[in-house]
Amino acid sequence: MKALVYQGPGKKAWTDREKPAIQKPTDVIVKITKTTICGTDLHILKGDVPTVDVGRILGHEGVGRVEEVGSAVRNFKKGDPVLISCITSCGSCANCKRQLYAHCDDGGWILGHRIDGTQAEYVRIPHGDNSLYPIPAGADEEALVMLSDILPTGLEIGVQAGKVKPGDAIAIVGAGPVGMSALLTAQFYSPGRIIMIDMDPARLALALQFGATNTVQVGDEDAVAAVRGLTGGQGVDVAIEAVGVPATFDICQKIVSAGGNIANVGVHGKPVDLHIEDLWIKNINISMGLVCTSTTPMLLKTVQAGKVDPTKLISHRFSLNEILDAYEVFGNAAREKAMKVIMAA
Ligand code: NAD
Ligand code: ZN
Repeated sequence: MKALVYQGPGKKAWTDREKPAIQKPTDVIVKITKTTICGTDLHILKGDVPTVDVGRILGHEGVGRVEEVGSAVRNFKKGDPVLISCITSCGSCANCKRQLYAHCDDGGWILGHRIDGTQAEYVRIPHGDNSLYPIPAGADEEALVMLSDILPTGLEIGVQAGKVKPGDAIAIVGAGPVGMSALLTAQFYSPGRIIMIDMDPARLALALQFGATNTVQVGDEDAVAAVRGLTGGQGVDVAIEAVGVPATFDICQKIVSAGGNIANVGVHGKPVDLHIEDLWIKNINISMGLVCTSTTPMLLKTVQAGKVDPTKLISHRFSLNEILDAYEVFGNAAREKAMKVIMAA
């Protein structure tokens, strides 16, 4: 089969690899029908994620058809359409029992990281019964690719951890696919004001179409002063960080109002300055985490019911064979006006 293989920092190849086989009775082999690229894949290619070995097939998002099941798999059979979660979970360890699937003793984020991933013609999914979701008949499979990672991430680590409530003023720093997913899912909770902050004017324009009430362009204006101006000097109830650099975490610390929440979603490679000397007296909560994808069943229902339309996030479509072109576009998102790219087999 063909697969996108990491060959060390800055190097990748679309090359021939052996088709995966069942290794454990709980494994499911999935034939990929649609997959995508994540910002995290770009981090890996830069060499930022040293736990990824040379030779690893990348990718942790996608949908497909069950090709083969291990002898212990009960929920799926050959031919079933399935959504792949970016988080693998055994369903029975202590952390899985409390829905902390990100910290499964025999899973977590392993796909396209510690084991071969979804940017290939076939992928092996361990603990298939718990790590795959059946796709309902008639569902838009492109939309569901957004449920492998980004929608649950925006919802769980941004909106729910930040405790967004009806009427709240919220700000989302970073209008990439993850920040946009927080923007779409925050609207389940009817916040009063949603301020989107980024430096890319095209992404900010898109955010207004997706339900943001205001935008702030970093570089063009002082983001902290702009948010204060929009909130009568108060700041926001919830500040969601969806970039992963010290400067954007700092904006969040400065725009959160008394009693508010900072929900950090971004993956940070460097320490940040925590201004506890300013925050302690304001009764601020700070949260952070790796997505558990425990909201995937709920998100499936909201997509099916038309309450959220994740296909809005798809800017480009390619065939799986054109994956190197897709990387070129996604890796130059500002120039190419790219958000999420879909590759279809
Ligand atoms: P992205 O790179 O596509 O988007 C980041 C956005 O931030 C871009 O639009 C960029 O213009 C903007 N930006 C960069 N620097 C900025 C600055 N100084 N001020 C304002 N805006 C700035 O990334 P993405 O795919 O949307 O992911 C966002 C973050 O979420 C990444 O750090 C990613 O690794 C992380 N992530 C976390 C989890 C989790 O479980 N916590 C899961 C998936 C992704
Ligand atoms: Zn587990």
